[in-house]
Amino acid sequence: LLDIQGLQKNYGPVPVLQDINLSIHKGEVVVILGPSGCGKSTLLRCLNGLEDIQGGDIIFAGQSLTGPAVNWQKIRQQIGMVFQNYDLFPHMSVIDNILLGPTKVQNKPRQQALAQAEQLLERVGLLDRKDAFPRQLSGGQKQRIAIVRALCMNPEIMLFDEVTAALDPEMVREVLDVILGLAKQGMTMVIVTHEMGFAQAVADRVIFIDAGKICETAKPDEFFANPQTERARQFLNKFQ
Ligand code: ATP
Ligand code: MG
Repeated sequence: LLDIQGLQKNYGPVPVLQDINLSIHKGEVVVILGPSGCGKSTLLRCLNGLEDIQGGDIIFAGQSLTGPAVNWQKIRQQIGMVFQNYDLFPHMSVIDNILLGPTKVQNKPRQQALAQAEQLLERVGLLDRKDAFPRQLSGGQKQRIAIVRALCMNPEIMLFDEVTAALDPEMVREVLDVILGLAKQGMTMVIVTHEMGFAQAVADRVIFIDAGKICETAKPDEFFANPQTERARQFLNKFQ
């Protein structure tokens, strides 16, 4: 579904990602791990057209995402992304936040979009908060709303960048459970996280990045029980 070939990304003269090769298959959950500053967020941003790249190619559903003619507005409907800092519009209610994309960008009839939004809100346990404003919600609730908002575009693949990193510990679980539920339903996902138990539970495949390069690729049980590189061992030791 998503094929990253020899991806090279520099910030100015500094190489940040080098020769990244990674194929993500439909229905697969890939978890990206690695130390702070290794390039995880940059990689996700490249997949969503938020960064220009200096080499290589990204092929999504058979189409190259590196040419000048890419319609990113269209691609971003198919590649949903949720960040660390839930970026809901503060002046709009939960339901209006969620319906903005489907009605304004995708021109869906409001009733149809509303039905889907309510179904998704129900699933994350927040249907009763649909008329609330973001300031009236907890961090965990806001993050679940941000996930629903992305899902309402019916994306082919979801990218998650440390979506629980800004949350109080007691709210982490409720957000991770939503993502685990998506995995069970077969959603294709690329997940950056520092929650190791969750990573092991949700991943079909773990990618360990160090200093901008893929250092290790493994099944989760193998990676956590028996990392092959010294760098991965050091990284995992910090979570013991
Ligand atoms: P973390 O786990 O802390 O989120 P990360 O793996 O997501 O780290 P990135 O945010 O991708 O790391 O950053 C990779 C490298 O690129 C870092 O050295 C960072 O300082 C650098 N970098 C990130 N964004 C920019 C930018 N806009 N301009 C210049 N350098 C940047
Ligand atoms: Mg990051």
